[in-house]
Amino acid sequence: KIIMVLLLTCTPESNTNDLLPSSSYHSSVLSSLNHLPFDGHLTFDNVQFAAKDFGGMFSSLPLAVLQPRSVSDISLAVRHVFELGPASGLTVAARGHGHSLHGQAMTRGGLVISMESLRWPKMRVFTGSSPFVEVSGGELWINILRETLKYGLAPKSWTDYLHLTVGGTLSNAGISGQAFRHGPQISNVYELEVVTGKGEIFTCSEKQNSDLFYGILGGLGQFGIITRARISLGPAAKRVKWIKVLYHDFALFSKDQEHLISLEKTFDYVEGFVMINRTGLLNRWRSSFIPKDPVQASRFTSEGKTLYCLELAKYFDPEESELVNQEVERLLSKLSYISSTLFLSEVSLLEFLDRVHISALKLREKGLWEVPHPWLNFLVPASQIKEFAGEVFGNILTDGINGPILIYPVNKSKWNNRTSLVTPPEDTFYNVGFLSSVPLSTGKDGLEHILAQNRKIIEFCDSKLRGTKRYLSHYSTQEEWKAHFGTQWEVFVRRKLEYDPLAILAPGQGIFEKRI
Ligand code: FAD
Repeated sequence: KIIMVLLLTCTPESNTNDLLPSSSYHSSVLSSLNHLPFDGHLTFDNVQFAAKDFGGMFSSLPLAVLQPRSVSDISLAVRHVFELGPASGLTVAARGHGHSLHGQAMTRGGLVISMESLRWPKMRVFTGSSPFVEVSGGELWINILRETLKYGLAPKSWTDYLHLTVGGTLSNAGISGQAFRHGPQISNVYELEVVTGKGEIFTCSEKQNSDLFYGILGGLGQFGIITRARISLGPAAKRVKWIKVLYHDFALFSKDQEHLISLEKTFDYVEGFVMINRTGLLNRWRSSFIPKDPVQASRFTSEGKTLYCLELAKYFDPEESELVNQEVERLLSKLSYISSTLFLSEVSLLEFLDRVHISALKLREKGLWEVPHPWLNFLVPASQIKEFAGEVFGNILTDGINGPILIYPVNKSKWNNRTSLVTPPEDTFYNVGFLSSVPLSTGKDGLEHILAQNRKIIEFCDSKLRGTKRYLSHYSTQEEWKAHFGTQWEVFVRRKLEYDPLAILAPGQGIFEKRI
């Protein structure tokens, strides 16, 4: 009889030496994998990379890493682990680009499948009235952008950073400034090929195996490994007008954001962020962006106050530049930003969409990329956002954080509500991200301090706000996961029993534990 037990497995700051499996039985069953006829490569050495992620706070050492060359490699491996039965205790973690925050792509003493090695199917663009691109589940979004641009096409919905895999973001949601009009990435998929926790291969879509299709999208890797995806495309504009304007007043800032996302004809991208003690950032824009009014902009100072930056983008082709200028002027004229703080820039679509990579490279050079990232993300109902901002920016984070604080609204009507993702029960809600980096180990910027601040924000949301949901979340108990999923929990468990009954897949999410 299958027993799926309830508690979590991930341990913060684990010493990887403690994580090696203790029983020789365990390692002997894993080495039985060695005899399987893989097209790709199975290794028991050099597996340390798979015990790390972008979050830099969790570590679980696997026993082996499979670099698959084909979908049958993945199916073979998972089926083998499934057939070993619950007694083996083995789990399997698909690893995309390893940019999770809390060890979600790890398995302690199990098998990691390194999805970036899966180069099949070869990326193919299908043009026509509903164009799409077919890609491997381990493909990076930046490569998809480069390839589709050759056809004058591009995916419609993005994440802010493109060096993430298709399987990794589709397991969460994939939210950025286009999500208000196109929904998140999980609302822009036509078809998936999936290997379930029994090792079976299924093609699924809205019409075919739809329960699996919607389960997988936003399903935190719990029901299957995405090996192939068909992603919807639209025409790609060549150029982007990229705009930043500032506000002192949160109510005006959020009113303008909500106004812009409610319009039919509006910007193509609407985001925003909070600037607490970020004079350096303001100075950087003065050089990288062109102020509309250079004299006034050079005199503008934040006077130590918190500022709210509305970030906008309008896509266009060079021949329609004049028309677009008029359209942008018209949209901006309805907004209430501080008039001297209009910063403009014009870049290619590739430069705009890949913008975070430039910052990432600079941080990497300074040794500030591979540091702990105790990020915290919420989806906050629009009705609660003023209270959220008042308490969080006014009281809890008076010193700010070392990193961006993102905040922007989306329209739920554009999101497909059949996916596994849980969202607040309102038509408009905000995506809020506290994206801290921790270069120092103690004091105001230290990890303990940031984690304590995060706990305060979570406690405030849990106790004072209705309907707020965490995104990219991590919980310590299954009770908390149950509360997170709310009325969707039953369906989530039912799907787990159907598609991964031994709880083999994505153990790093800490939702279900495989037990003997
Ligand atoms: P991994 O970390 O490797 O895996 C994530 C989870 O998905 C794991 O549970 C793993 O087992 C599972 N998984 C991986 N591949 C597959 C597969 N093929 N099939 C099934 N399951 C799989 N998110 C947003 O929504 N919007 C943003 O703007 C955004 N910006 C980000 C910027 C940065 C710098 C970083 C580090 C993260 C950002 N994220 C954003 C979060 C990001 O979308 C997730 O962390 C995502 O999971 C990372 O993709 P990955 O390929 O690194 O996945």
